[in-house]
Amino acid sequence: MHKQFDDKPRSPDAVMPSRREALMVGAGLLAAPLMASLVPAANAADTGASVGGGPFPARAYGATSATSPLGPLQIERRVVGPRDVLLDVLYCGVCHSDIHVARSEWGPTHYPCVPGHEVIGRVQAVGSAVTKFKIGDIAGVGCMVNSCGTCENCQADLEQYCLKGNTLTYDSPDPATGKHTLGGYSNKIVVTEHFVIRIPPGADLPATAPLLCAGITTFSPMQHWKVAGGQRVGVIGLGGLGHVAVKLAVARKVDVTVFTTSPGKIADARRLGAQGAVLSTDVEAMKGLAKFDFLISTVPEAFPMQPFINLLKLDGTLVNVGAMNPLEDVHGLGLARARRSLAGSIIGGIAETQEVIDYCTARNIKADVELIQPANINKAFDRVVNKDVRYRFVIDMTTSA
Ligand code: NAP
Ligand code: ZN
Repeated sequence: MHKQFDDKPRSPDAVMPSRREALMVGAGLLAAPLMASLVPAANAADTGASVGGGPFPARAYGATSATSPLGPLQIERRVVGPRDVLLDVLYCGVCHSDIHVARSEWGPTHYPCVPGHEVIGRVQAVGSAVTKFKIGDIAGVGCMVNSCGTCENCQADLEQYCLKGNTLTYDSPDPATGKHTLGGYSNKIVVTEHFVIRIPPGADLPATAPLLCAGITTFSPMQHWKVAGGQRVGVIGLGGLGHVAVKLAVARKVDVTVFTTSPGKIADARRLGAQGAVLSTDVEAMKGLAKFDFLISTVPEAFPMQPFINLLKLDGTLVNVGAMNPLEDVHGLGLARARRSLAGSIIGGIAETQEVIDYCTARNIKADVELIQPANINKAFDRVVNKDVRYRFVIDMTTSA
């Protein structure tokens, strides 16, 4: 049974600061230095209002146009409302989606744009109604920061498919502020408790951050299509999502093959646990392969899919999680003659995101990360685009000046 994250139906303005908070902010009473404004959670229940104060000035890295490099920005984080958690960001993964949005590749982006949806931080303040977190806890934020909570998909723990449209972590209209959301390339973030993920003690924090997007995006379809031992599984594209997909598939004791366009990644694919690794540009090698139950494509743009669809067994499925533009070269008969499916999938719900974090921590599954300073984000973007990431950049926000 779905556990609703709010105790009553929510309207978009249900997440707005209370009138008392708004008045305090208006009078400048909550604009005191951050540390001075923190109140322990225990006292908060007495007031029934915001306990963390705010709004807070925060440092961020973002883009001011589709063509400008990312640079330092001053932003504002909203008042910590009764159900909100304020995180001091420690690490934030760099997803290819960050690049698509920063560069307006998925349609016009609202600028300034602060990307980042693989966020791990330390709880610095909690609202009076928060029950899941206390100050000092380590917590994570993935791709969503709110949803209606009442539609049938939200009720089924599928907030990523909210029928009223969820609020993404960045570049989404934000009912809480009337502006657009700003993501985790920042030293602070305020998020509604339901959308904050518990990070188990002992987790390797930089290597866990990418699981909040790359992990859930590849775990969720494996759950949905019941990928299980004995099957043959292929991962197309060995980047951030792809390398986590390999580790998650290996954990299911399936036979894994990586399809890469980079000859230099063949050895890595085997090191990550894949039994097979194929250069997908090698037409002869592609033809000679045994058929697959399940393929997952993490390729960031449209590419000819039919050669991969031809590799599916009867009733096999190719799930596209990468390309979000019109797909190329898919033949009706190529699908029909083996009752094959071509499907898509978007991230995963909050309960399932918690599940993948707990699952990976228990099994010591982590991303292979290269830690970078915020000032090196533009070089990291270029290396991701050039397929030269091994296999996820993570920004160390603890050092941001
Ligand atoms: P990434 O780190 O850049 O990895 C993508 C990999 O795909 C590359 O390393 C490369 O691997 C391969 N590739 C790149 N361009 C290619 C091309 N033109 N043709 C064939 N192969 C190519 O990216 P990511 O962070 O894993 O994200 C992958 C995609 O998933 C992005 O488009 C991202 O926006 C999307 N995404 C979707 C969701 C969702 O919910 N559906 C969630 C997160 C991300 P090889 O060198 O091995 O060929
Ligand atoms: Zn992502």
